[in-house]
Amino acid sequence: AKAAGRNGAALFETTMLAAAENTLMLERDLGNALDNDEFALHLQLQVSPDGQPIGAESLLRWRRADGVLVPPDVFIPIAEKTGLIVPLGTWVLRQACLSWLRLSRAGHALPLSVNVSPRQFQQADFVDVVRSILAETGVPATQLIFELTEGLLVENMDATVARMHVLAELGIRFSIDDFGTGYSSLAYLQKMPLYELKIDKGFMRDMPHDVNGTALVKSILAMAGQLGLRVVAEGIETREQAQFLASHGKPCMQGFLFCRPMPLGELISQLEAAA
Ligand code: C2E
Ligand code: CA
Ligand code: CA
Ligand code: CA
Repeated sequence: AKAAGRNGAALFETTMLAAAENTLMLERDLGNALDNDEFALHLQLQVSPDGQPIGAESLLRWRRADGVLVPPDVFIPIAEKTGLIVPLGTWVLRQACLSWLRLSRAGHALPLSVNVSPRQFQQADFVDVVRSILAETGVPATQLIFELTEGLLVENMDATVARMHVLAELGIRFSIDDFGTGYSSLAYLQKMPLYELKIDKGFMRDMPHDVNGTALVKSILAMAGQLGLRVVAEGIETREQAQFLASHGKPCMQGFLFCRPMPLGELISQLEAAA
């Protein structure tokens, strides 16, 4: 047992070292990725309870020069730490607006949801950046939904709420992403100009078999109903999940069952085929 323990420890150290080296390499590569044009924006359709397209979420993709696709769950936290998320977030917003223009010209003017990270939202000039991208592209603010996470709301509630109101005045709508995984209180939710809650896909995974998850989903739907908010349930992969939701509050849905995240051109083809 002792030997096994020692081997275990050694293995752990090696893994930690590899992970640390890996992070440093990723940090370095990420620093050049924007200049090297290695990012792309994919779009994933969102559908109404009866399956009609209601919008799409923009999801960032990083394909490194060596061809490796690095998942956003890996590089976004690093970009957030190094600060690259600020120029990257600006790039995403402009790219989302350009995507909206192409969709609109193809006859599919769907509102686009854009993930906005806490550090990006908290930049002193964030509102100016949003304003100037809207002016530059001519996209109506009402066609954008900003997805914020509960982390941002916990950290800096008053400043966040004030800034949300300024952007809402412009016409931007707001969604709380991964809802149910953080600690936002009902009192605060009522102070914010909110349009939507997105139920985290973690709660969908074992639905409708997982009793706790199911209860939580039902209570989020009830609460959103009370607050007059739209709900999008994420991570819908099976007919069973969609059917369960259809008989429990009928939220909007997003997931592989309906559409994978894909490049804009493919999404337009898919929308044409369905029309
Ligand atoms: P998120 O905002 O919660 O995005 C939803 C994630 O669920 C996406 O992962 C999407 O591809 C995935 N997904 C969609 N449908 C299904 C499904 O049916 N089953 C499963 N298992 N997964 C599904 P992705 O694209 O890997 O993004 C991961 C996270 O990275 C996002 O989570 C978001 O937090 C962050 N992210 C992505 N793009 C951006 C961005 O432009 N800016 C910022 N700040 N964060 C981003
Ligand atoms: Ca999101
Ligand atoms: Ca989410
Ligand atoms: Ca997430």
